Amino acid sequence: MSAAPEAANPRSDSTGQATASSGDSPKTAPAPIDTELLDVLVVGGGVCGTALLFELARYTDLGRIALVERYDQLALVNSKATNNSQTIHCGDIETNYTLEKALRVKRTAEMIVHYAELLDSASRERCVFRTPKMVLAVGDKECAVLRERFERFSPHFPAMELLEKHQIAEWEPAVALDRGQLRSEQLLAIGIRRTYTAVDYGQLSESFLQQAQAAISAATAVEQPPSEQRRLDLYLGTTVERIQPEGELFRVTLAPTPGCKGGSGQPSQLLVRHVVVNAGAHSLLMAQRMGFGLEYSCLPVAGSFYFTPDLLRGKVYTVQNDKLPFAAIHGDPDVGAAGKTRFGPTALLLPMLERYKPASFWQFLQVLRLDRAVFSVLWQLFRIADIRNYILKNILFELPWLRRWLFLADARKIVPGMTIEQLSFAEGYGGVRPQLIDKRQRKLILGEASIEAMPGLVFNVTPSPGGTCCLGNAHRDLEAIVKRLGCGFDRSGLERELYGENE
Ligand SMILES: Cc1cc2nc3c(=O)[nH]c(=O)nc-3n(C[C@H](O)[C@H](O)[C@H](O)COP(=O)(O)OP(=O)(O)OC[C@H]3O[C@@H](n4cnc5c(N)ncnc54)[C@H](O)[C@@H]3O)c2cc1C
Repeated sequence: MSAAPEAANPRSDSTGQATASSGDSPKTAPAPIDTELLDVLVVGGGVCGTALLFELARYTDLGRIALVERYDQLALVNSKATNNSQTIHCGDIETNYTLEKALRVKRTAEMIVHYAELLDSASRERCVFRTPKMVLAVGDKECAVLRERFERFSPHFPAMELLEKHQIAEWEPAVALDRGQLRSEQLLAIGIRRTYTAVDYGQLSESFLQQAQAAISAATAVEQPPSEQRRLDLYLGTTVERIQPEGELFRVTLAPTPGCKGGSGQPSQLLVRHVVVNAGAHSLLMAQRMGFGLEYSCLPVAGSFYFTPDLLRGKVYTVQNDKLPFAAIHGDPDVGAAGKTRFGPTALLLPMLERYKPASFWQFLQVLRLDRAVFSVLWQLFRIADIRNYILKNILFELPWLRRWLFLADARKIVPGMTIEQLSFAEGYGGVRPQLIDKRQRKLILGEASIEAMPGLVFNVTPSPGGTCCLGNAHRDLEAIVKRLGCGFDRSGLERELYGENE
């Protein structure tokens, strides 16, 4: 495969199920019944689930693949553009990454850019955006750290430029100038001129589905009998209620999601050879209901955002405090809100698996699994003054009459001349990062976790930077699927197209 087929529109019927197969005429997916045998079922239609669907469709020859999403649309939870920071984290401006981690992440992060190159320009421009970016150091200590970092990182990231104060003023006047004068503090930045650095992960999810459907249609000859045609089924508005192992297969119970228009109206079942669950924090809930992943607890960390008028031209990150487990705030133009700069995210411990869904409090209680090990990790966090103060400050950030003033003090590190009138709370923005606690090791896990429950069943929990890693994690799961199901796999096509190798 060398060039991506033209994007195809998802075709859905009134039940919320959509099918891609050969020929031009849309086909209705049959209602899921006991006897259906699917090769792979992906649970969750965020950026991680749809990335896997895309790779399955484009690089394997599997005949029956499907995706189930609880809501009527893809990517309404953490992958929605309003709910995350819209950044491709490739390690150059993330000062909490070591060089080794940065190099690892860079390779995975660049997969999004390579994927975008497969798209026609209109589709590409909906998904990824070129902006300048920088990480800003303020004060002697941070400037020394950043200067040393530049020496070590720049040989591996040739686009990096070291920016002194007057150069920062040229790139981002609002950062270096205060009332028309250069700021008095010492400033230094590592900058990267225009590069693909911003993503609408919601649009990217839609694009993955369209490209998956196009790949299925392109791979199937029109004259093939329907039983031999490759198929991709999409179940929207449908919740996976239960997964039961049955020999080497899995029986998956689906139910229409209350309040959603999709679903067939009745609970139904699918028989599946391989299941990958990419359901965010709900992956852990589903795993634990089956008796897997009991060694984990979940600490949901919500992030809120604030808007100002158009103050920044690109992404401005700040130097990370080593003691704080969550990234320092940044500011950048919002890809979905023209003319606005977005600042954040904050980091609020929130007892919910899904933001703005109070009912998910009960699900949080189920995955918290409070015991001595969890208390011990919470105690380790609270003992450190920087973390304790940070947690308390983030609670205050949520108090309507106080939050703008408190956040203003932090945001002025980036834009010193920002005024309270310019700052507004971004209502309804911000998702929840499902940070896991490893109870056996009694520590907070900052990255993602993949719970390999049994052969053919995996549960992925992907806090930040899960959007950046979506294609890389999908590749990991794809390799396991290929090995287990023994299907055809165009590995060199994937390496060429998504890693830019063997050009
Ligand atoms: C404040 C914040 C800022 C972030 N910033 C960045 C960033 O700049 N860069 C980055 O790379 N990452 C960032 N992230 C992380 C990123 O948003 C997530 O890692 C990513 O969106 C995870 O994608 P996902 O598909 O795993 O999960 P989600 O997008 O949450 O999708 C999971 C899907 O599963 C569905 N689902 C759940 N249960 C079921 C069920 N039983 N049946 C069927 N479907 C189900 C849900 O409805 C949902 O659509 C940020 C996250 C937050 C909260």
